[in-house]
Amino acid sequence: MWNEIKNNLSSSKVYLKEFLFFNVIFILFFFLFINDKTIVLTLIILLLVLSFVFLNLIGYKRKRELNEIKSVVAGIRKNSFNYPSEIKLTENLQALEDEIQQMFEKDKNDIEYLKKLERMRTEFLANVSHELRTPIFAIQGYIETLLDGALDDNKVNKYFLDKANQHTLNLNVLINDLIDISMIESGEMRMSYRYFNINEYINQIIQEMMPMANEKNIKLVYFPARDGLQLFGDKVRLKQVFTNLIMNAIKYTEQGKVEVLVEEEPKFGKIIIRDTGIGISQEDIARIFERFYRVDKARSRAVGGTGLGLAIVKHIVEAHNSKIEVKSEPGVGSEFSFRLKK
Ligand code: ADP
Repeated sequence: MWNEIKNNLSSSKVYLKEFLFFNVIFILFFFLFINDKTIVLTLIILLLVLSFVFLNLIGYKRKRELNEIKSVVAGIRKNSFNYPSEIKLTENLQALEDEIQQMFEKDKNDIEYLKKLERMRTEFLANVSHELRTPIFAIQGYIETLLDGALDDNKVNKYFLDKANQHTLNLNVLINDLIDISMIESGEMRMSYRYFNINEYINQIIQEMMPMANEKNIKLVYFPARDGLQLFGDKVRLKQVFTNLIMNAIKYTEQGKVEVLVEEEPKFGKIIIRDTGIGISQEDIARIFERFYRVDKARSRAVGGTGLGLAIVKHIVEAHNSKIEVKSEPGVGSEFSFRLKK
């Protein structure tokens, strides 16, 4: 009992100054306006007793509230809560309860986000190792076969060397894509925005991609924008976007055509890359921009894909404050588009 009172009083110590101040005022008031010394003395004793009881009650309440806050904080530290609504304080502390609940929610989201990043990092590393291993194993296999005697067999030696060379080229593409993605994601990729003539720019890229389209017997057509139209962007980085999108369109089209269009809008130029290829299902559309995601792994590898192209495209387009959009129907074709500022 006495210990309890001692604790209560020590908890209400913070209000001691205010109490003393009011007690002194009351006592002065008694002395000034009451002449009878006995009454003054009785009033002073009464005041002190009341103050003592009052301080005890305030201390008790303060201690209870502090204990409540302490137990909530300890609960958060020990991960005893799963949801913010499980954090409860008395009605007087409603505002504090709201704040703690919001803080808890934010911390929980931050932790989830960090865990997700960690998972993604591990997955990425596993993917990178796997992707690197595939061409290295293949190259190793061809070299071993050549060393084991195939080198002297004129019917196959060139074929094996060609294959090994193809895998070396794939490896090179993969490493370049990996360097790009790590530069983009670490924020090291410097962008340099300028106005440029979009028709001249796309025509040049189309010329470069033409042999690839011809090889597959696919028509590659450009529908130019208004003569002299200037769009704003980083020409070097955008080249990667155009090349990846047109290359994909050719890679994933067996017959028909690939069209590139620039549609002029009041403030933007909308760039469209359209193909009559295999198309992409709705579920896959949601994932094709993830690193290493391929709808058909074997097919992507067979056409020299790294699974990183669209992830790079998305980053570069977003760095231009734009968004890449996809419309596609399996068996009919796909359309990738984004806007550049005029
Ligand atoms: P990849 O190197 O495998 O082509 P990308 O990141 O460029 O990787 O594309 C991811 C996946 O999206 C591809 O593996 C393919 O399945 C699908 N894809 C991309 N572009 C097209 C397209 N034009 N038509 C059909 N599928 C496509």
